Formats: sequence, structure tokens, C-alpha cells
Amino acid sequence: MADQPQLARRYEALLRNSTEVVAILDANGTITYMSPAAQRVFGYTPDAMTGVPGFDFIHPDDRAEAAAAFRGCVAEGSARCLLRARHADGSWRWIEETMVNCTDEPAIGGIVVNNRDVTDRRLAEDRLAARTAQQSAVAWLGMLALETPDRDEFVRAALEVVVTALDVVHAIVFEATDDAEWVRVRASSPELERMCAGDLVRRESVAMTSYILDTGESVTVDDRRVETRFPWSKLARAWSFVSAIGAPIVANGRCHGVLALHHRQARAFTADDRSFVESVAHLLGWVNERAAYEEETRHRSLHDAATGLPNRELFCDRLDQAIVRAKRRKLPSAVLSIGLDRFQVINDSIGHANGDLVLVEVARRLEGCVRASDTVGRLSGDQFILLCEELRTPERAARIAEKIMARLSEPLVIAKREISLSASIGIAMVPASSSAEQLISEADAAMHRAKRRGHGGYELVDEALRDRAVLRLELEEGLRHAVERGELRVHYQPVVDLGCGSPVGVEALVRWQHPHQGLVAPSSFIPLAEETGLIVPMGRWVLAEACRTVAGWNRRRGDLPPLDVAVNLSTRQLADPDLVEVVAATLDETGLPAELLCLEITESFLMQSPDRGSEVLGALHRLGVRICVDDFGTGYSSLLYLRSFPVDSLKVDRIFVAGLGRNAEDTAIVRGVIALAHSLGLQVIAEGVEDRGQVEDLRALSCDLGQGFHWARPLPAGKVEALLGVRAEPARVAAS
Ligand code: C2E
Ligand code: CA
Ligand code: CA
Repeated sequence: MADQPQLARRYEALLRNSTEVVAILDANGTITYMSPAAQRVFGYTPDAMTGVPGFDFIHPDDRAEAAAAFRGCVAEGSARCLLRARHADGSWRWIEETMVNCTDEPAIGGIVVNNRDVTDRRLAEDRLAARTAQQSAVAWLGMLALETPDRDEFVRAALEVVVTALDVVHAIVFEATDDAEWVRVRASSPELERMCAGDLVRRESVAMTSYILDTGESVTVDDRRVETRFPWSKLARAWSFVSAIGAPIVANGRCHGVLALHHRQARAFTADDRSFVESVAHLLGWVNERAAYEEETRHRSLHDAATGLPNRELFCDRLDQAIVRAKRRKLPSAVLSIGLDRFQVINDSIGHANGDLVLVEVARRLEGCVRASDTVGRLSGDQFILLCEELRTPERAARIAEKIMARLSEPLVIAKREISLSASIGIAMVPASSSAEQLISEADAAMHRAKRRGHGGYELVDEALRDRAVLRLELEEGLRHAVERGELRVHYQPVVDLGCGSPVGVEALVRWQHPHQGLVAPSSFIPLAEETGLIVPMGRWVLAEACRTVAGWNRRRGDLPPLDVAVNLSTRQLADPDLVEVVAATLDETGLPAELLCLEITESFLMQSPDRGSEVLGALHRLGVRICVDDFGTGYSSLLYLRSFPVDSLKVDRIFVAGLGRNAEDTAIVRGVIALAHSLGLQVIAEGVEDRGQVEDLRALSCDLGQGFHWARPLPAGKVEALLGVRAEPARVAAS
């Protein structure tokens, strides 16, 4: 057992060597004892602290909490708290305090406070929290980079994130420009932009950025007063920046920008801080790369690869704008369509690669013939296009055409061969009323006419208009004689009973066997025939031909029930006063029973002239002929409206049939039409049936008849007979 003095020495040594500082405070909080470890933890000698109020050493923000703990200890015997205490060097240490009330202990007579320095742990925790925050900021920015197509928006977000995460005063993105002397400020505070006078700054005034651009390395500057790698630039000094951190922005392997952060106090930036800034810079680089790629793709999609000239899409876009300007300024522009003559021959003889060189040279020469504000584009192989703005008169456009022809005819040497070029040019003046596409096609038509007239000339579109009228006259003239010359044909498309699947009739569809153009579809000539009234004699011929053919088939169908025939009537035919008489005579001459003829009319006729409609349809009905409303659903008539006319059947237009099962609205329309038609006693035919699914849908909806490519296309009589159960004619059997 040790004696008293020995024990005292031992405690003294324990207290001196303890990692904790032990203090005794009186009831007022004044320090009455301080263990020797105070020197190590707080930097003060125990004597210097003794007799001083303990609060004097506590961080102002933590005093309230410390006071509460102290009161709690006095009342309840013990307490704990965490606070910052001042070190003699001016820094703050994080201290964990445990207090025990030993006032009643005679040997102590006060509050014993154990102080444990937890600063290192706190800093580690702070660093961890900062790193986590930075990592999640980078992750968030990464997602933003993927989601935000707008580069500037991303740059702004990135700057905001780094400023907040690192708690610095300022962040900025600099970008290298083509001029080595200058860098561009991509996003920053408005104040800085004001100081820079625009978005360009001299490289020398941003020394750190310049250093990073040169070395491609990121840098941290904890305190500019000890920085040696580069001078602290004027701009940074003007802004009283003291510390900074910067990282290179790399895209496509090239350092082309810098992300720089500045602070007004000295800072001990950590390795984490630096790698955080590098990560954000990396994302900026990635976004730039993507933007550059998109820009390139866009450029490529709007430019011709061989010559780099705007392509059709871009040219049309510019032309559309020019049309608007021409309207506003009342100054016409011109579109010149330039076709190289015999370019295919040149291309074949010198090879495609050299051919491309020729095109490049042509592009260059064309550009040389016009003002910089004009647009030269390339439409296709040997076809260029020009937009010349504010020309005032067609004569000026003609002068440009002459200049181009002269320039293109100058000798050109490619692959050691002298090539002579010539071009044919079509000129369209830009009025406010037309569209880009229309102007281009008019200029094109004029160019092709110039070509036909002989190479190396130009033509104006007014002549094109004249020519279009000529073409129309030619067509009309041809159509006029088509009936007499026997150039019309009738094709037949079977109409099938959806219940049993067998053909019950045909629709007659006219064709024109044009002497030069081959078989012409009705859509190309029926409108003109209607306009000119030629549809009346044509229609008569079709009616007679169809009735005769089907009557003949019915004689050769043995025991099978007779087929009926549907013939289309246009509005113009219905207006023909002789129509009923002609139909009666035709049935008479061909021997086709009236009930086997079905005349197809459109809703529009009934809507336009209901009186005439009632009259003529009534008369036809009295003959025994049936009436079908064609293209039902495309007009505006309702079924109930049709009820007042003697109509026997409806043909559901093929656009609704096409939507069956695919489009809910179309399906509903077909279902509704069939149900209502049936309730009015009308038969329903579905046209344009192209697949089995549609057949099944129509069957499920109780549609009566169907017609379409699924069964057969419209075919010449000789080719459709077999499908219709028509026995071959004896004469044909003998011939085969
Ligand atoms: P329309 O009366 O609606 O004739 C049906 C059109 O649909 C025909 O075109 C036919 O070939 C086409 N078609 C038939 N099945 C299908 C299919 O499954 N899918 C698709 N996509 N189309 C199909 P076509 O023969 O070119 O006739 C066009 C239009 O010309 C006719 O439409 C009709 O309005 C008119 N037309 C034809 N012949 C005459 C005629 O002799 N006189 C009059 N006035 N007009 C006629
Ligand atoms: Ca029809
Ligand atoms: Ca139709």
C-alpha cells in the first residue's frame, strides 16, 4: 500500500500523461484547477487558464449549449456536450466534455470536467461528408448531362453545383478559341462578363487558365501569395481572389477549356476537392463532345458530302426565309436551277473520284459568281441550285445565269485532262405566294426545258407555265381521241360475299392505254376528263363495255348465279340529261338485266344537288338499276340523310378498312356504319380489303361484301374470268 505523498505523485503523473484534460470549475464556471495536459491540447499552461471563466475559451456559437450542460450537471449530477474550444494558436479544437458534479466531495469541491480532443475525428467525418456530397453531386450532374440536350443549361448547372459543393465564391468555364491570344468565357456571373467587356478575354489576363490549357493538368492554389507556377493575373487580383482550383476540360482528346473556381480566403484544398473538380470538368468535356458530334451530324445532314454545299433541306429552309423577306421588302429574289450538261459522260470517263473534284470546282465557281449572302446548294448528282436575293428584275437573274455559264465554260484540268463544262439553267423569280418546293420544281422544269432546247442556255419560269398549259392541252387532246382510237380499257375487280367467300360481282375500273405512257391510272386523267366534260362520252363507253362483258360472262357461268357489275359515275355524268336514257339503251343493247347493274355515286353529288339527285336516282331505280354510295365516310353526309334517296348499298371507304383492328376510331366507324346501314335495309361493301385480319374483322361485324387486293387487284377481263368461275369461250379453248 503506497503512502499519501506517493499516491499524490502517481495521480499527478497520470493526469499529466492522460490524453484527456481534467479541469475543475466552481459553481460560477470559473476554472479552479487545470490538469497539465492542457498545455498539449489547448496550448496554454494550466496556470494561464486557472482563475479564468471556462466560457472564455468556448466558441461563441457553442456557449449556449455548454451553459445548458453545465446547469444540467449542477442539478442532476452529470452531463455531456460537444463544443469548440480555442487553442492558443487561434484555431478551434473540437472537444467532447463529460462533467461530474463533485461539489460535495471535500477533496474536490467543484465540477470535474473531462475534456477529450476529438478534432481529428470530426475533420475526418467532415471530409467524408464532403466527399459523399461531392460524389452525389457528380452523379446528379452525370444524369443531368444525359438528360439535358442544351449545353449552356448544363454548364450553368455544373457551375452552380461546384460553387455550392466547395463553398467558393466563384466558378467559371473558359474555352480556347482559334485565336491563341483569346479565350472565351462560356458561363459566369454577369459582373465578370461586364469586366471582360464581352465574352472574350485575353489569355494573359487569366494566367491559371492559360497554364492549365498549356499543360493539360489540374491545379490547386491554396494561397496566391506563395504561388510560383504562374503570376496571379490582373483579373484575379481585381476580384481579390486568393485561392483557386482549376481543371482541364478535355473533349476528343484535346484540352479546349478550363473549369476554374476561386475563393477570397486562403484554402487548404484537399485531394478530394481536386478530384471532384476534375470529375465535373470531365462531364463538361463529355457534354462538349456530344454537342460537337451533334453539330457535326446536323451539319452533315444539311450539307452535301462531296461539295460541302447546303443540301435540299437546308436550301429549302433558306428559301422559305427568303420568301418571307421578299414579301416584306417587296424585292423579288431568284432561284436558279443549274444542271450540268453531260455530266454523266464526264463522270464515266474520268471516274467518280475525279468527278467529285469537278463538282467541288463547280461549287467553288458558282460561289464566286454570287454575293456572299446568296446561297449555293446542291440538289442531286449534277444539279446545283442558287438563291440570289433582292434582284429586283428577272433580267438581273438572267445576267447572273450568263455569268455562270461563262464561268463554268472556262477550261478545267482534272487528272491531267482538260474538261469543258456547260450548264443549262432554269430561273424562277421568288414571289411571296409560292412555297420553296414549288419554286424549286418550277426552276427545275425550266432548266430541263433549257436542256432539251440545246445545252448551255437558260429559261425563265413564265415559259414553264406556258409549257405546263401546253402539256395539259396535249393530255386533253389525247384524252379526246382516246375513246375513238380505242385506247380505253376496263379492268374488273371481284366483289366477294364475306359469308361464303365466293365472288358475286365485279367493279369496273377504267384505264387508259396511252400510246407513249403505257397504262395510265384513272387518278391521272379522270379529274381532267371531268373538268373538260370528256368524262361523259368516256363513261358511256365504260358502261357499255362493262355491261357487255358481264352479260357475256353470265352466259358462261353454267348453273352459278349471275354476277353483277358496279360502274362508277362521276358528278358530271349524273348531271348529263341523257343519263337515264343512255343507261336504259345500254341495258337493252347488251342484254344485261337491270338488277345486275349497280351504279356507284359519291356522297358529294347528293349533298350538292339533292333535287337533281332525287330525280335521277329515282328514274334509274325505276329502271331496276341499283345505286351504291361509294367512298362512304369521306364526305359529310349522314346515313339518315341518305335515307331520303333511293340507295341500295354503301361502300365503306378503304381508309376506314385500313384502320380496322389498328385504329379504335376507324373500327368504331365501320361498326357503326354497318349497324346503321343494316337497320335501314342497306347492303354494306367494304373496299380496300388487303389482309385476312380485315376479312375476319369485317365478318365479325356482319359486313356483307368485300373487295380488295386480298382477293384480287383490278384485272383485264381475260385475266379475271377464271377467278369468277367463268368458263373459257369455246373459241379461246380451240386457240389455246
Ligand atoms: P374507287 O371507285 O374508289 O375505286 C376503287 C379504287 O381502289 C381502285 O383504284 C382500285 O384499284 C383500288 N383498290 C381496290 N382494292 C384495293 C386494295 O385492296 N387496296 C388499295 N390500296 N386499293 C384498292 P383505281 O382503279 O385507280 O380507281 C381510282 C378511282 O378512279 C376510283 O375510285 C374511281 O373514283 C375512279 N374511276 C375508276 N374508273 C372509273 C370510271 O369508269 N368512271 C368514273 N367516273 N370514275 C372511275
Ligand atoms: Ca368505286
Ligand atoms: Ca371507293
